[in-house]
Amino acid sequence: MTTVPGEETRRQYLAALEQVEKTVEHCLAAVDRTALVNQARVLDAFRAEQVDEYCFADSTGYGYHDLGRHKLDAVYARVFGAEAALVRPHFVSGTHAITACLYAVLAPGDRMVSLTGKPYDTLHRVMGYGQAFPGSLAGTGIHYAEADFSGTFDGKLLDKLLAGKTRLVFIQRSRGYAERPSLTTTAIGNLVQEVKKRRPEAVILVDNCYGEFVQEQEPCHLGADLAAGSLIKNPGGGLAPTGGYVTGRSDLVERVAWRLTAPGLGAGIGSMVGVKRQFFQGLFLAPHQVAQALKGAILAGALFSALGFGVSPQCGEERGDIIQAVRLGNPELLQKFCRAVQQASPVDSHLTPVPAPMVGYEDQIIMAAGTFIQGAGSEFSADAPLRPPYTVFLQGGLTFAHVRLALSEILAALGVAPRAVLDSLQFLKI
Ligand SMILES: *Cc1c(COP(=O)(O)O)cnc(C)c1O
Repeated sequence: MTTVPGEETRRQYLAALEQVEKTVEHCLAAVDRTALVNQARVLDAFRAEQVDEYCFADSTGYGYHDLGRHKLDAVYARVFGAEAALVRPHFVSGTHAITACLYAVLAPGDRMVSLTGKPYDTLHRVMGYGQAFPGSLAGTGIHYAEADFSGTFDGKLLDKLLAGKTRLVFIQRSRGYAERPSLTTTAIGNLVQEVKKRRPEAVILVDNCYGEFVQEQEPCHLGADLAAGSLIKNPGGGLAPTGGYVTGRSDLVERVAWRLTAPGLGAGIGSMVGVKRQFFQGLFLAPHQVAQALKGAILAGALFSALGFGVSPQCGEERGDIIQAVRLGNPELLQKFCRAVQQASPVDSHLTPVPAPMVGYEDQIIMAAGTFIQGAGSEFSADAPLRPPYTVFLQGGLTFAHVRLALSEILAALGVAPRAVLDSLQFLKI
């Protein structure tokens, strides 16, 4: 049974959170400024491509001459600073979009280098870590090296990693489930330049999941050759029901399209049923929606930092993604936390999340996600692999107001009184 807090209790918690919010006002204002810049770029792209009502109509069968699909790609290309884009419900997830990029670029005998450590969990089997089964990159004869990444790069390490002929350089913008920080656009820009100096022929692919619209630039603005992500995270604006996207150099995007459909067919085929309005409208909402999520993350970070938990990013630290990590330190607290997130959700609030194995992940994962769209990272949710230091990763939030309500219920579940929140504020260093 879902328990809804009483009016007076809720009022006290929200009043305490308002005080926390005051300490991070400058960070929240910066988020609004970024949203405005991104909203302008999105609006201008819609106008430049003359998006109209016909763009939203379904296509059937092969989906030949689907003008809306074509314009959607063109709008994404403009927004993401790329020559071309491929935005499709036929990408089943972000992992699929990234994987299509990898297989489009890499051929047997080629070398791939990851500069940000192991790619995200769901890509481990694609890489063929541990077991180079047929079809994985390792099983296909792709050579691979990775940097052990903890947040900074040094030139010597890059020299060493890029000494050999390299076809593809992989960069993950978000932290994923790692303890390392996300990459800011400044860091991505520097890294791209350093790679181009050493290996101008290498294709730079950025896993852009959770990074879209967090800052004013996207990887292709900064010189990346390809960037890919999921539509049920940032760029779908909470409306896209499924899908993934790829942006980048037009010759490379065409090869990715050949991978997605078939060589010779490419981007000119693929009917779009029941998704185009959501894709367009979701992209239009995305800068605002990402801002809502970021404000929730900033408030959560300040709150738990004041309460004495390790948080990352810290208040005031530049953010490269929408994720807020909170180190809870023990499995019981972690489960209480996730149960409260679930209870405070608009959908499935009566369910209890329990740790379980997940396809594509190594540790057991506890996931609190009472979302309209299954697994949507754009909606307020919490995930945590069940391993020390029992860090919970918070992401999303369609509205900042919802995140505030959820945080007050998390506090209640952890047994932190409103008074204790106010008392803790004197320890908050911003
Ligand atoms: C979510 C995520 C992915 C994978 O996307 P899915 O849509 O879940 O397959 C890849 N990389 C990062 C950093 C992610 O956050």
